Amino acid sequence: MEPFMPQLVYIEPKALDYPLGRELKDKFENLGVEIRETTSHNQVRGIPGDNEFQQYRNAKSTLVVGLRRTLKFDTSKPSAEYAIPLATGCMGHCHYCYLQTTLGSKPYIRTYVNLEDIFEQADKYMKEREPEITRFEAACTSDIVGIDHLTHSLKKTIEFMGEKDFGQLRFVTKYHHVDHLLDAKHNGRTRFRFSVNSRYVIKNFEPGTSSFDERLEAARKVANADYPLGFIVAPIYMHEDWQEGYFELFERLYNSLKGVNVDNLTFELIQHRFTKPAKKVIAKRYPKTKLEMDETKRKYKWGRYGIGKYVYKDEEANDIETTIKRYIHEFFPQAEVQYFT
Ligand code: SF4
Repeated sequence: MEPFMPQLVYIEPKALDYPLGRELKDKFENLGVEIRETTSHNQVRGIPGDNEFQQYRNAKSTLVVGLRRTLKFDTSKPSAEYAIPLATGCMGHCHYCYLQTTLGSKPYIRTYVNLEDIFEQADKYMKEREPEITRFEAACTSDIVGIDHLTHSLKKTIEFMGEKDFGQLRFVTKYHHVDHLLDAKHNGRTRFRFSVNSRYVIKNFEPGTSSFDERLEAARKVANADYPLGFIVAPIYMHEDWQEGYFELFERLYNSLKGVNVDNLTFELIQHRFTKPAKKVIAKRYPKTKLEMDETKRKYKWGRYGIGKYVYKDEEANDIETTIKRYIHEFFPQAEVQYFT
């Protein structure tokens, strides 16, 4: 799949006070991409489209170059202490994506150019916790790798963290455009994870992302560039013959990583979940989706902001957890499973 290129770019005037803002303006001008001005990245108006459906599609190929004003980082349990905000939104069309609801009516992609302010804040958080290590997750609100060939803000963050004794960075991606990150001075302080899933899930629910094989090729490159490597298996979804589907996933993973140093390999496991508001949005945006979201078949779990989520019932969740852990143990006995949730 081709690297992401926005069809339309909005720029906040204040973004031009920063080197990255000016660089992006020049870049898109040279590429002939339409550029418009917006007073704030929260106030983007006029995304083309005759109806909400079309506007949603167009928003996913719209990039807003702006400033991150809220410098209070969100927490990011269980994978890290904080979410480091580099971008929001994603060009992918994964049906189950939680951004569908968290971004609500603003599904366009925002990139923040005031990296200096963001790094200063990250430094403060690290100082507060010293000598404990503080982990930052860079993919909480976007697929940051998927847009980084344009901005290089992730690369700068990797190098920033590479110099920190008490900081670590992690992110996850479904994109394979990693070449510019291979020579970043990461000093082993960034864990580069890829999101993987069974053929069924990738085929039916992950349009607009890199194929499994592309992700695996990128994973090999990343491991060969000495990054600590990880995989997030998410969402684990009980489709027909899911056991075989996930077994095949690990088999393919194993075969493709032969000869690659995977001593320091991690897995994170996340079962499928949905909220009631998400279900409504998904039905509207992907009306033909096969994603099964029947509340009666699930267990209700209280969630943040009072919005509960529907996860698999205990017996099924246990089945998922033991099955997937067994496969991991079989194919990658040295790997660490960091959590199942
Ligand atoms: Fe959402 Fe990730 Fe898919 Fe992007 S790649 S749509 S962030 S799940």
